Amino acid sequence: MDFDIVVVGAGPAGLCFACALADTKLRIALVETQPEAVLAEPAFDGREIALTHFSADVLRQLGIWERLDASAISPLRDAKVLNGPSLQGMNIEHRHGNKAELGYLISNHLIRKAAYDAAKSSHNVTLITETRVTDLHTDSDGGTVTLANGDTLRALLIVAADSRFSATRRAMGISARMHDFGKIMMVCCMEHDEPHEHVAWEWFDYGQTLALLPMNGNRSSVVITLPHHAMQPLLAMEPEAFNQAMTTRFAHRLGDMRLVSTRHSYPLVAVYADKFVAPRFALVGDAAVGMHPVTAHGFNFGLRGADTLAQGIIKAFRDGGDIAGPALLQAYQRKHRRATLPLFVATHAVAKLYTSESMPSRLLREALIGVGQRITPFKKLVAATLTGAR
Ligand SMILES: Cc1cc2nc3c(=O)[nH]c(=O)nc-3n(C[C@H](O)[C@H](O)[C@H](O)COP(=O)(O)OP(=O)(O)OC[C@H]3O[C@@H](n4cnc5c(N)ncnc54)[C@H](O)[C@@H]3O)c2cc1C
Repeated sequence: MDFDIVVVGAGPAGLCFACALADTKLRIALVETQPEAVLAEPAFDGREIALTHFSADVLRQLGIWERLDASAISPLRDAKVLNGPSLQGMNIEHRHGNKAELGYLISNHLIRKAAYDAAKSSHNVTLITETRVTDLHTDSDGGTVTLANGDTLRALLIVAADSRFSATRRAMGISARMHDFGKIMMVCCMEHDEPHEHVAWEWFDYGQTLALLPMNGNRSSVVITLPHHAMQPLLAMEPEAFNQAMTTRFAHRLGDMRLVSTRHSYPLVAVYADKFVAPRFALVGDAAVGMHPVTAHGFNFGLRGADTLAQGIIKAFRDGGDIAGPALLQAYQRKHRRATLPLFVATHAVAKLYTSESMPSRLLREALIGVGQRITPFKKLVAATLTGAR
């Protein structure tokens, strides 16, 4: 064997999985298409990641949290869900989750940089960059990946963390439930006149979905979801016109808004793999569960899965067992499905209902938010989900 484990993809999930096995005696290879300089200094990609308390704890254990500048971590105190033009929404407050805040917001590129630095500093992780995995197969003893440069690597276990459109998942013959919402999500950072009080908004307006993720200062990560044809003009607009358009779309609720970053767009596609494992093979991150971002759980689930799989491997290694045996992989699959499937299904239902514009749907949308606002145990459940207590 060239390595014990080959990880395909050094995105946040692949890097964190490697970090979870750092400084063990396991030899880990991390194969990534992008050049190493890009991993070392990732560019701003518009995403502000809402992290649960559970995720923050995992990042602390992985030595990643301590690499994040404290000023780059914004507390997420409360969250507000709004529907249509109504100002009455459902408020999820930190006190419902018995914590000082629901979670934290951190820029994705800063998480990626900190995860790269942590992986790079560990003696047992080898980065193989600027090449991609073009083929793989596994047998009862291990797996072999073929790289674009013609090299092959053999390992006891292959772990795919190569995005929700994972080519290695397909190469292994694993099917996935995939739903294309037919919409585009645009993210950017904006300054605004009114304070956000560290409250996140999810505003299911009519004809558009808006979200506001509070960053430190009078700045927020602004997220807008629209059909492709409506998004293109917004992406192409000069900053002055864009500022006016967004101030109007937010109904002046934050006063004047000003663009202070580049704009980034992402297609809205949710993915759930039908299996997370195959002989000597496992999926982690978006390759296993690619969430709709509305409940802000994609990377949180990626971290949870990476942690679950890594803990199983470390235990097997300590006990002198097989680090990629069928029982271990099945246990990972069971645990990660249990942790992710209910919220995946619920997120899908919420996303479908709250973007449906028919009159019965609009009435149901309003009614459900009203009921949710009045039922404290429900709000506690949502707060527990957001904080990662469940
Ligand atoms: C707008 C937006 C907002 C979001 N907000 C949140 C949030 O608030 N909270 C949250 O938890 N999550 C959020 N997410 C989700 C989160 O960003 C993703 O879950 C996370 O980035 C997935 O990480 P990953 O490593 O699995 O995949 P990716 O980030 O897609 O990385 C995959 C890596 O694999 C590499 N790769 C691909 N194919 C190959 C190959 N064949 N060989 C070698 N390398 C390969 C790629 O170059 C890439 O580096 C958001 C997502 C979006 C789009």
